[in-house]
Amino acid sequence: MTETADVVIIGSGIVGSSVAYHLAQQGCTNVLVVEREAHQGKDSTGKSMGGVRAQFTTPVNIKMSLYSINFFAEFDEVVGHPADYRAHGYLFCATTERHLNYLKTNRELQLSLGLKNVELVEPEDILKMVPQLSADDIIGGTFCPTDGFVDPHSVMMGFMLKARETGTRLWLDTTVTGIEVVNDRVSAVETTRGKISTPVVVNAAGAWAAQIARMAGAELPVEPLRRQLVPTEPFDGLPKRFPMVIDMSTGFHFRREGKGILLAWNDPEETPGFKTGFDPTFIEKILTRAAMRVPCLAEAEVNPRRSWAGLYEMTPDHHAIIGPAPNIKGLYFVNGFSGHGVMHSPASGRITADLIVKGDSELVDTTQIGVERFAEGRLLHETAVL
Ligand SMILES: Cc1cc2nc3c(=O)[nH]c(=O)nc-3n(C[C@H](O)[C@H](O)[C@H](O)COP(=O)(O)OP(=O)(O)OC[C@H]3O[C@@H](n4cnc5c(N)ncnc54)[C@H](O)[C@@H]3O)c2cc1C
Repeated sequence: MTETADVVIIGSGIVGSSVAYHLAQQGCTNVLVVEREAHQGKDSTGKSMGGVRAQFTTPVNIKMSLYSINFFAEFDEVVGHPADYRAHGYLFCATTERHLNYLKTNRELQLSLGLKNVELVEPEDILKMVPQLSADDIIGGTFCPTDGFVDPHSVMMGFMLKARETGTRLWLDTTVTGIEVVNDRVSAVETTRGKISTPVVVNAAGAWAAQIARMAGAELPVEPLRRQLVPTEPFDGLPKRFPMVIDMSTGFHFRREGKGILLAWNDPEETPGFKTGFDPTFIEKILTRAAMRVPCLAEAEVNPRRSWAGLYEMTPDHHAIIGPAPNIKGLYFVNGFSGHGVMHSPASGRITADLIVKGDSELVDTTQIGVERFAEGRLLHETAVL
C-alpha cells in the first residue's frame, strides 16, 4: 500500500527539522520527514561551528537573524529542549579604513532594522575583551553581545522531537530516489522504502539540494563547498569566555570550544565539490593566520585527527533560496544557506511553513528570496560571509 502524507520533507538536518516544527505549530502534522542516514545531523548540521549573528549586510539576512536569535533565546522554554544559546557576541576587527567604514555602514542598516545593541568599538575595548590579540594594526570594530553560539545538534533534535509529539513522522535510513510530477504538480516521492503519495514536497537536502531538485525536473543553483575546522587541545592562554573574533584582514576567526579553541578560516583556494575529507595541509595555513593575530596560539597543540570538514551549500549570491519552485506546483525549496543554515534555521522553517500553509510570510519579503531571482537578475548582495 502506498503511504500518504500532506507534506514530505526531504532531509532531517536542522533546516528540515525546523520546517517540520513550524508546520506542526501551524497545525500541519500529517508530515513525513525522509532521511537517508541512520541518524539525524550527520551532514552539515553536525559539522557546523554553531555561530549565530545578526551582523549582516542585507535586510533579509538581518531580519532572519533577528527572528532566529530571539527564537534561540527562548528555545529551551518554548521547544522544551536545550539550544545551548551562549550570547558571547561576535567581534569584528578592522585593520583598514575601508573595512571600518564597511562595518559602520552595516551598523546603520542593522540599527534601522531593530538590532539595537551593535556597538562600534575602539582598539582598547577590543583588547579588554581579548588581551592576547596582536592589535597594533587594529583601528576599530563592531561588537554585538547577542550574537553568539548554539548547539546545532541539540537545536535540530529539539525541533524534531517537538514536531513528533504532534504526529510528524521521521523515516531514517531511507533515501529519496525520485519525485513524481504529473501535469506540472508534485504527486509522489519515491524512496528506498516505497512510494509516498503527497501534494507537497520540501527540499531540505542541504548540499545535495540540486540533485533533489533535478529529480523533479527543476534547476537549483546550489553547490557544495568544503569548509574545514581545527580545534586546539585544551588551551588556557586565552580567556575562559570571549566572543567570536573575526580578523577582517585575513578572514581568520576563532572562539572558545570547551577547554580548547575552535579555529576557522575560509580558504580561497577551495573549489566546489562533494569533498568531506579533512586536508592536513590546511593546519599549517590556518595556524599561520592564527599566530599572526593571536601570537600565543602558536603554542596551542592541534591534532589533525580531531579536525574535520563539512560542506557549505553555496548559492551565487550567498543567500538562501526559500519558496516554491516556479514551474512545479507543490515543490518548495529551503536551501543554499551559504554557511548560515544553523543560525537561520528558525526563520527559514517559519517562512517555509508560512508559505505552505498561508501562501506568504510576514517575516521577510519572500519575493526577494525565491529562486526566480537568478533567472530575473535580481541577485542579493551579501558580503559578510565567513
Ligand atoms: C564546517 C562548517 C561550519 C559551519 N558553521 C556554521 C555556523 O557557524 N553557523 C551557521 O549558521 N552555519 C554554519 N554552517 C552551515 C550549516 O551547518 C548549514 O548551513 C546547515 O547545517 C544546513 O542544514 P540543512 O539541514 O539544510 O543541511 P544538512 O544538515 O546537510 O541536512 C541535509 C540532510 O538531507 C539528507 N539528504 C540528502 N539527500 C537525501 C536523499 N536523497 N534522501 C534522503 N535524505 C537526503 C542528508 O542526509 C542530510 O541529513 C557550517 C557548515 C560547516 C560545514
